[in-house]
Amino acid sequence: MISGTNAIGTKSSKQGNTTFKTFNPKENKDTEWTFYEASSSEIDEAVELATDAFKTYKDFSGIKKAAFLEAIANEIEALGDELINTYCEESGLPAGRARGERGRTMGQLRAFANLLREGSWIEAVIEKAQPNREPMPKSDIRKMLFPLGPVVVFGASNFPLAFSTAGGDTASALAAGCPVIVKSHPMHAGTGELVSSAITKAAEKTNMPNGVFSNLNSSDIEVGQQLVKHPKVKAVGFTGSIKGGTALYKLANERDEPIPVFAEMGSINPVVVLPSALEIDADAWATKYASSITLGAGQFCTNPGLVMAVKGDKLDGFINTLSEELLKLEPTCMLHPNIYAKYNEGKKELSTQSGVTITADYTKDTNANTAKPVILKVSGADFLANTKLHTEVFGPFSVVVECENMSELETILNRLEGQLTGTILGSEQDLENNSGVVDALKSRVGRILFNGVPTGVEVNSSMVHGGPFPATTDPRFTSVGTSAIKRWVRPVSFQDWPNKLLPKALQNENPLNITRLVEGEYSKN
Ligand code: NAP
Repeated sequence: MISGTNAIGTKSSKQGNTTFKTFNPKENKDTEWTFYEASSSEIDEAVELATDAFKTYKDFSGIKKAAFLEAIANEIEALGDELINTYCEESGLPAGRARGERGRTMGQLRAFANLLREGSWIEAVIEKAQPNREPMPKSDIRKMLFPLGPVVVFGASNFPLAFSTAGGDTASALAAGCPVIVKSHPMHAGTGELVSSAITKAAEKTNMPNGVFSNLNSSDIEVGQQLVKHPKVKAVGFTGSIKGGTALYKLANERDEPIPVFAEMGSINPVVVLPSALEIDADAWATKYASSITLGAGQFCTNPGLVMAVKGDKLDGFINTLSEELLKLEPTCMLHPNIYAKYNEGKKELSTQSGVTITADYTKDTNANTAKPVILKVSGADFLANTKLHTEVFGPFSVVVECENMSELETILNRLEGQLTGTILGSEQDLENNSGVVDALKSRVGRILFNGVPTGVEVNSSMVHGGPFPATTDPRFTSVGTSAIKRWVRPVSFQDWPNKLLPKALQNENPLNITRLVEGEYSKN
């Protein structure tokens, strides 16, 4: 049952008078649920509780934290159809997508549980003392990773489950040993509240400290800003717009004690179509890309918003098929009227830039908040001259750039901002013949794909869902996959520390039986 309240630790709270409702974009009307904006004192209470919880939670064993994460996954599953129905009502997304995302969310939690049980993620490194070393004795120095402290997570609009309340940011921060305060996304606060109730139940069942998790509702930016400025918050996870992410990043850096903000923001995910892909597979690729561009109404951070190739008859054929196939697909509902309005603004702005031609424009009538897809075409020179064309239009939208030659294509890649993904279509021979293009693309992205579509992000230990700014605020990390845990920790060295008082992971006997780097060699000794 959705009550519209804030979850402060295990307590349900509604102090403020200000309320908001979520919206059903398919039916184009408010949902039945009313949510209370978190008050300043609720924010303080959540952060104080998280700070208290951190005192014990930070030292919990991997096994204990793993049990908590698995209990969260089980409790989410136990929410059953109420969760699926609320998700669909608040997002306009279909039930199949909701179930898939729920599975992914539970899978992420279980993957972190496995990582914790295995234990080596804390990167224990041991350099033993050499008291007789000449000319100076060598100290015993041992290091490992420790959690940062309370983390604020901003739920993302486009993934109400997998990048929200119990999504990758929350799962990785809890796994690291950091209590989490979620600033729920106002577009799906009901979905967030249900998931929050699952986390609270799991915390109680596995004896976690009160305050290990809180969920705060808000429909304006002040609650999030107050959380980021709170001196006891130690890091922030965010997925959303470049405007929102950079504003929070700036705020965090202006604090007396600046803190890291791991914001995953805009990306147009360039796709380079090399000659052999146009020669051999143009129609097949065009058909696949029509689906990828329109998948989920284009509301994926990995949506392919830019396609580049050298101009000619073959590229004309590719553009024709892409446009025809795109128009055959039924347009779908967007997440919210605000996102729909922004999509239409962006589409109009880019379509009317100098040198731009519209090659596919869905003109038939559609239901409310349903995004009509569009493909634009522009020359390499016009694209280079106008950075507006390099910006993300969040929705079923893509720009095809017709380059004069490979050298112009490479120049364009070098001028692009940072991206989450970059894709090359072609043959292995094409790759070898165009190493400059490959290098340019690699320098711009977190994940480089060969002969595929960028939508669809596997959650595993080798995934990088990140990239140079503005794809993210820190290209050294990923927000998807088990390596995401590394965002919430810092290394500490212990010098000449008594063995029995060291953390277990660093003790001589290796009581956790984890792989460690001892005197330069990986071992379980
Ligand atoms: P958003 O506007 O960036 O908002 C995301 C969250 O951050 C919300 O909870 C929002 O709070 C908060 N926020 C935004 N600006 C803030 C600020 N200056 N200070 C404090 N908190 C702030 O993203 P959105 O609502 O999901 O969608 C808006 C647009 O973002 C979309 O149309 C799309 O262009 C882009 N977007 C991109 C991606 C991507 O993966 N590339 C994903 C999602 C969205 P309130 O809502 O409470 O104000």
